[in-house]
Amino acid sequence: MSRPEITTPESLADESVVELSLRPQRLAEFIGQAKVKDALRIYLDAALARREPLDHTLLFGPPGLGKTTLAELIARELGVNLHTTSGPALEKPGDLVGTLTNLRAGDILFIDEIHRLRPVIDEFLYPAMEDAKIDIRLSEGPKAQTITMPIERFTLIGATTRLGMLTAPLRARFGIELRLNYYDPVEIEEIIHRTATVLGSSIDADGAQELSRRARGTPRVANRLLRRVRDFAEVKAGGHVTKAVAREALAMLDVDEFGLDEMDTRLLRAIIEKFDGGPVGVGTVAAAVGEEADTLEEVYEPFLVQHGFLQRTPRGRMATAQAYRHLGYPPPAAAPGAQPELF
Ligand code: ADP
Repeated sequence: MSRPEITTPESLADESVVELSLRPQRLAEFIGQAKVKDALRIYLDAALARREPLDHTLLFGPPGLGKTTLAELIARELGVNLHTTSGPALEKPGDLVGTLTNLRAGDILFIDEIHRLRPVIDEFLYPAMEDAKIDIRLSEGPKAQTITMPIERFTLIGATTRLGMLTAPLRARFGIELRLNYYDPVEIEEIIHRTATVLGSSIDADGAQELSRRARGTPRVANRLLRRVRDFAEVKAGGHVTKAVAREALAMLDVDEFGLDEMDTRLLRAIIEKFDGGPVGVGTVAAAVGEEADTLEEVYEPFLVQHGFLQRTPRGRMATAQAYRHLGYPPPAAAPGAQPELF
């Protein structure tokens, strides 16, 4: 049985401190995502030249690709303060009043998981984002009095894995939208080498390549694999990670050879075992694995499609022959990729 939680892109409980020290400090150190970096450099230079706050910015993409890291980099590049919170942590508008009234001009408010903001907070943020003012209710009830307070112009950076869950009015208030994509293997290798240097450990090119193959294009997973393999190397191989050491360590850790995580495996198994490999609608798959359909669509499917485990067809999702083989089933003739293309 493989241990897919190692390749789960979400943060695990004990990781936040380690991540802090692994995060690149400047935009130039941020590896990959060339399109995002180029666009951001222009927006940052323009904001700096005009001495104005950066436009409100929405960062979106699967977990572990660098959204929080980018928010921190942006603050550092602009030389402003960063205030961090997250959608689920904010219960009522009052939770934001203190932060918003203390912001200095150009400061950044970073809201992670912004798709999970409550509607009252969405609405509270609109005038703050557009007109630099907030409405504070002085009492409860239908005749409640409100006062309007000016605040400094600031930049809201929102991060989300689920663009589809943002309300249209909130999304419309972001002037900049940046989409992060999975990293290609060479970029992941570069990130692994950088992390190894930061951690003071040594890994050769083949070792990095071996880890990169299982990192599902995600820096957080790559860093996690490196840390686990490094522990193994220190105990068993004098601290140096080679291809052979990496392989041995990954086998011992039962890491999936393609970096599939627990939900990926569950999703593919459900399609194969419950729906004969598909085609099956995404809503049905979602019910079978106990996850919301748009999470599957935005967070899990892109990776599976890109790596040839899943096909999206007009009639629904289909497990490919590769998915069957990977999970230890013989692929039926109807599975995509089971037979050589005739044309
Ligand atoms: P997200 O907010 O998208 O979930 P994070 O910004 O927390 O992702 O990044 C997860 C981890 O991956 C961090 O430890 C960070 O240092 C590392 N990381 C992300 N992107 C890069 C990158 N482009 N270069 C180097 N390390 C990165």
